[in-house]
Amino acid sequence: RKRVFSGIQPSGNLHLGNYLGALKNWVAIQEDYENYFCIVDLHALTVPQDPKVLREKIREVAAIYLAVGLDPEHCTIFRQSRVSEHTELAWLLNCIARFGELSRMTQFKDKSRKEGAESASVGLFDYPVLQAADILLYNAHLVPVGEDQRQHLELTRTLARRFNHLYGETFVVPEIMILETGARVMALDEPEEKMSKSSPRPASYVAILDEPDVIRRKIRRAVTDSGTEIVAAPEKPAITNLLQIYAAMTERKIPDIEAEYAGRGYGDFKKDLAEIVVEGLAPVRERALELLENPAELDELLESGAGRAREAARPNLHTAWARMGLD
Ligand code: ATP
Ligand code: MG
Repeated sequence: RKRVFSGIQPSGNLHLGNYLGALKNWVAIQEDYENYFCIVDLHALTVPQDPKVLREKIREVAAIYLAVGLDPEHCTIFRQSRVSEHTELAWLLNCIARFGELSRMTQFKDKSRKEGAESASVGLFDYPVLQAADILLYNAHLVPVGEDQRQHLELTRTLARRFNHLYGETFVVPEIMILETGARVMALDEPEEKMSKSSPRPASYVAILDEPDVIRRKIRRAVTDSGTEIVAAPEKPAITNLLQIYAAMTERKIPDIEAEYAGRGYGDFKKDLAEIVVEGLAPVRERALELLENPAELDELLESGAGRAREAARPNLHTAWARMGLD
């Protein structure tokens, strides 16, 4: 069976973008692959985190993984920090990754813009190398992610090829899997920016665990464009984003939705969209809250997942060591 690897950071509230761009897809393909779905808690540390909040968010991600329908029979669910092979391989890859190529990563530029690169953590700079290690460690064939991860995946492929070239065939060069709709959900209050869980503005995202009325309010207040027509167009980024969310939630085509709302106002459209999102997320929210009442069970799931992940990872790390002369 081919292997899938993907992960989400426990760096805030999981949102509609994480759901539509990543989680929904993971659930859809899980039965066809051997899956490793990681809670990438070491990645979360690349920007400041409150330990108390981080601890809670880790469990929250685990609960959401299960609540969306990931099946532990098909998926190994675990924490990155509990499988030390990730950081061990990251070091090996650090030594073949180039300063120049990491300097070109747009996520680093975006995330360090506010304080400036001088004050960004070295971890944030090195983030894509740890991510490459996450993936290559399992010889994953397929990595289902949102559009924003395309550049990091290209780097992962480059590092795999470079290692193979320098030290002999070792790693699978993974394929990226990005959905057609839902792979780039934009912020509700700023449609030029992607929806992000580390955003300081809760109005910018719909969280998977938001209460129904909060979701309704956020969608009602989402910015719109000038004009009144409900059509997807480059000059209408806000309405285009809402249409994409509508399409991804309902599995319908955008032209079909445009036709349905021809001649109707933004108000009508947003009201319907809010109900669609509320209904889509309600079962996930309810199930996740149930699971969170039993944290010991979630911890156990993560522990046993880490055991299985380590078994898969260890031999591959040993091979990489040996190829480099560290055997
Ligand atoms: P952070 O702001 O802390 O980076 P994030 O919202 O970007 O959080 P990540 O944990 O970095 O979430 O990414 C988890 C997965 O969700 C990745 O596959 C990523 O591509 C996907 N993803 C993140 N944001 C979006 C979005 N706005 N639309 C679609 N997919 C997204
Ligand atoms: Mg991100």
